[in-house]
Amino acid sequence: MPTIPFIGSFFSSSSSTIPESDYRVQKTEEEWRTILNKEQFRVLREKGTEMEDTGEYNKHYPSSGVYACVGCGAPLYRASHKFNSGCGWPAFFDAIPGAIKPQDDNSMGMKRTEIVCKNCGGHLGHVFEGEGHNTPTDQRHCVNSVSIKFSPDESKADGKGDVETNGESKV
Ligand SMILES: [Zn+2]
Repeated sequence: MPTIPFIGSFFSSSSSTIPESDYRVQKTEEEWRTILNKEQFRVLREKGTEMEDTGEYNKHYPSSGVYACVGCGAPLYRASHKFNSGCGWPAFFDAIPGAIKPQDDNSMGMKRTEIVCKNCGGHLGHVFEGEGHNTPTDQRHCVNSVSIKFSPDESKADGKGDVETNGESKV
């Protein structure tokens, strides 16, 4: 079936997203629906937000491990990046280099910075700065638990998001 990619992006619903062609992992809405459950689809693909204080990883503080994108498996955050912000969602003060992409979000009458997975464009949450947290960056990456999947295997963080082509085993 012939498709015209640029026309497609004009008709996509969100105004502030970067073109779909910038993401390494690209799937149609139908394909995402087969991979993600309803809540994951709502958050990752429709920029939804999970209910405050309900997320699986809200009060999850492992000593090591990696949180990966639930949509594409790219490693996003290390357990050591996580801190207790008390905000009701998982909070990280930093991310694995190059794993996430910030972009302006002017929805809901607020000026915020949205963060998405750089590999697939899945919505993760928002990043806030200068709130006075006692962390190395004073950034708060406020991330939905449903957008991420924890693995205790820290070596997954070294894949730099190249999950589809990395066949090496690191043991
Ligand atoms: Zn992803």
